[in-house]
Amino acid sequence: MANTDTNFVILLVGPPGAGKGTQAARLAEAHELEILSTGEMLRAHIAEGTELGNNAKAIIDAGELVSDHIILEMVRGEIESRSPVRLLLDGFPRTIPQAEALDSLLGELGAPINHVFELKVDAEEIVSRLLQRGSELGRSDDTEETIRNRISVYEQQTKPLVAYYAKQHLLTEVDGLGTPDAVASRIKAGLA
Ligand code: AMP
Repeated sequence: MANTDTNFVILLVGPPGAGKGTQAARLAEAHELEILSTGEMLRAHIAEGTELGNNAKAIIDAGELVSDHIILEMVRGEIESRSPVRLLLDGFPRTIPQAEALDSLLGELGAPINHVFELKVDAEEIVSRLLQRGSELGRSDDTEETIRNRISVYEQQTKPLVAYYAKQHLLTEVDGLGTPDAVASRIKAGLA
């Protein structure tokens, strides 16, 4: 049973299509964590037609990253009101400045990150998974051109987080290939 009085923060890092959303749902349920997915928050803004959503749509459809400033404004209120802080972060942070801002926010709350899992999946597997998801869910950024750009944006802007968290001794690499159950059990082993 999860001890739900204590702070617990898990972060999933990995390229688009690595299975972060799938594993986030499982981990959140097992450990009674709330999922904070900046991608989902942005899609909700787009669906509601907010100013933020209208500004972000073209950036997301191109596979680029929304600015750190906008992302941090959006998540700050979600995080700072919590006690205890029990969060599963999916798709945030995605840049070093976002990671630094998160560290300082969590530091103020006395709730440092407990674990970071890097889900590793190669580029061709990602493209085929996301093309499949695009045809099933109709996500406007799951087209081949945007997928390839998202992979290169990941390599350039998000991958540096792996070294950032390894340096803090928080990182566990996980092979993201195989069934969701197989990946979940690798993550579980890393939590033990
Ligand atoms: P996701 O659902 O996590 O794949 O996010 C979909 C898209 O939303 C990304 O390709 C980015 O354009 C944008 N996005 C989501 N999270 C972030 C973030 N933390 N920083 C910048 N852009 C983001």
